[in-house]
Amino acid sequence: MRITPLEGWVAEKIQQPKLTRAALEKYQLTKLHAVIQFARAKSPFYRHFLAGFPDITQLPDLVQLPFTTADDIRQQPLQLLCVSQDEIHRVVTLDSSGTTGRPKRLYFTPDDQQLTIDFFRVGMSTFTDPDDRVLILLPGESAGSVGDLLATAIQRLGAVPIKHGPIRDPFATLNVIRQEKITGMVGVPTHVLALARLPHILMPKLKNVLLTTDHVPNAIKYAVEQAFGCTVYNHYGMTEMGLGGGVECEARLGYHLREADIYVEIVDPITGQVLPDGEYGEVVFTTLTRRGMPLIRYRTGDVSRFIPDDCSCGTCLKTLEKITHRLSGQVQLDGKVITMADLDEILFSFEDVLDFRVTVRRENGGDTLQVEVKITDHSKIKQTEKFKKALLPLTHHVAIQVLPSLHTSMAKRAIVDTRGQT
Ligand SMILES: [Zn+2]
Repeated sequence: MRITPLEGWVAEKIQQPKLTRAALEKYQLTKLHAVIQFARAKSPFYRHFLAGFPDITQLPDLVQLPFTTADDIRQQPLQLLCVSQDEIHRVVTLDSSGTTGRPKRLYFTPDDQQLTIDFFRVGMSTFTDPDDRVLILLPGESAGSVGDLLATAIQRLGAVPIKHGPIRDPFATLNVIRQEKITGMVGVPTHVLALARLPHILMPKLKNVLLTTDHVPNAIKYAVEQAFGCTVYNHYGMTEMGLGGGVECEARLGYHLREADIYVEIVDPITGQVLPDGEYGEVVFTTLTRRGMPLIRYRTGDVSRFIPDDCSCGTCLKTLEKITHRLSGQVQLDGKVITMADLDEILFSFEDVLDFRVTVRRENGGDTLQVEVKITDHSKIKQTEKFKKALLPLTHHVAIQVLPSLHTSMAKRAIVDTRGQT
């Protein structure tokens, strides 16, 4: 098994001939100190937010600083900027979920974007060779979009990127895969699944597929591996992290993180206390190298843990376990906690399921889990009973609606809890 290429890359970035935890932590402390000073000096938000808090002189001191939240970004994004708006090259606007109804806006300088390209280049080198042709199923039309940065990274590896964008017609995309002699793909899980669910007789063989999002259901990973005879790797990232966060090595047991660019903590979501390696909590990160809009102790809402054992690839980088769910992606029903991950693994294990959406409603005094399931056009069995039966271990109070079209568009997969709403 090859060691993750992130090991040598991080060593180079921190100017060490060989990576050690001690050297990395010394670097992280220096960078944390610098980014906090920089944010205080340049960002009106952080000047006010961090007023009165002491400087950090050792890594554990970071716990004294408050958390930055998604609502902080929604409410006053420009106040978080540390450079003039002239220096901003790319603004990413994210959907308007959340309490304020405002979108999140993230700002990046050209240097910030180069950091992302560099991480994509090294991350992709885990499983990409110079003779590979990689289909990019992420938005890539505009300069500086995620697909565009990834294409540049793949070019720097000497491989050929083919920008495609999100899948609209899976059959058309399948033709592109054949015509372009694609060897690998990068996309979000449900989009790649839409391809994998086409009749298997049509499937070309691929070497590797990278699924990128906050949480990759295992059932989708298996379906994609079976359909294309490929190896699936997972990437964990979000726009706030600078699009890229961590990627699996050949061991594929969790994410190695770009630890020279982000400092990750796992905290108790209720008390905010930092948890030791091995314990589950909320993923919180601080950017170490971004200039446009650095984030300090940003709460992601994702639940995971650091795997306490060393990775079998031999790196001294930490391994973040695959994200199980988001804090918002869980509901209580009949006294039981149901997570999006539970639903993912059950529903995506059906060969005809493409996507689903869940709403919890209170009707006639009882709570019901309403599940809209989108299934393939060629599915022969459209009955709802099999889904009900499969969900029994989670709840008896379930209503299923089957949406029998490949092209039905569906809102972002989430559990919407309408109880308590008037
Ligand atoms: Zn590893």
